[in-house]
Amino acid sequence: MSLETLHQDLDQAEQAALASVEQAGDSAAMDRLRPEVMGKKSPIRQLMKMLGGLSADERPEAGRVINEAQARVEAAFAAKDAAMKEAALNQRLETERIDVTLPGAFPLPLGALHPLTQTLNEIVRIFTAMGYDTATGPEVETEHYNFDALNFAPNHPARDSHDSFYLPGGGLLRTHTSPVQIRYMQNHKPPIQIIAPGRTFRVDDVDATHSPVFHQVEGLLVDENVSLAHLNGTLTAFARAMFGSDLATRFRASYFPFVEPGAEMDVQCWECGGKGTGCRVCKSSGWVEILGAGLVHPNVLKSVGLDPQKVSGFAFGMGVERIAMLRYGISSIRNFYENDVRFLRQFA
Ligand SMILES: [Zn+2]
Repeated sequence: MSLETLHQDLDQAEQAALASVEQAGDSAAMDRLRPEVMGKKSPIRQLMKMLGGLSADERPEAGRVINEAQARVEAAFAAKDAAMKEAALNQRLETERIDVTLPGAFPLPLGALHPLTQTLNEIVRIFTAMGYDTATGPEVETEHYNFDALNFAPNHPARDSHDSFYLPGGGLLRTHTSPVQIRYMQNHKPPIQIIAPGRTFRVDDVDATHSPVFHQVEGLLVDENVSLAHLNGTLTAFARAMFGSDLATRFRASYFPFVEPGAEMDVQCWECGGKGTGCRVCKSSGWVEILGAGLVHPNVLKSVGLDPQKVSGFAFGMGVERIAMLRYGISSIRNFYENDVRFLRQFA
């Protein structure tokens, strides 16, 4: 074994390894090649075994050239490997590119607010603009908050289980949002100016104008020297904002336990302009009833510890379903709860 033979064998092994690297066409071929050119058993490293046949003077030089040849092959392999990975990445970036400006494949229809929600939002918007805060309360109430504190007589028919949903453990589903007035007055001192929107419950068979679940908005204002004139001005402003700016309003005396005097408010029919002849909306009367109202009964003020000699207030309440039916010309309350998209879509 001579140094010259080693050089020839080494040169041959290096050329063969470099050729293999050169020829590897894909990453799978590179993976197969890796142990052969890079590992301990690569043909170049195997030449180390021949060092024993050389003289002591020749061995360091021979070891150095073997290591240098191996390093060149490994550098060529690493360069090729990196180039192939970069090419593969570029190809993926090209083929998987997403054009975010293209329209979606399955455009989803836009949802819209339910007509009751739209109506409620509009009512809240109008009163908020007049300075009212929104208050809420529980839907499961006690008889105290739902009836007693609101001046309902012990034998009032609304207390009957044929009219109200009583719960097995006591209490009932609130029949109006008026309990919120009591709860609010217990925790706030006048001046008070709130509206209380929410769900209410009464035992009713479903027909064109009745549903066991419906929505109310109540209003309450308590301060010094509050009069019917304030009530009139407030509700007239509301009716005009809701139904039309040039419509007249009128009050008719009525009875609710928690107000004195009590009234129902009519607004001039927006459909026929108050003429009434053959009009479906106002049933030819020229007027449409929209809400109940009155001055807060002294007993209600007393029930929360207020002195009726010092403060007074007005309250009003309206059904959101009724307002929505009037506003949109809807003839049956059932439409609101059946979730028929053909109906709901008209309000989108
Ligand atoms: Zn009319």
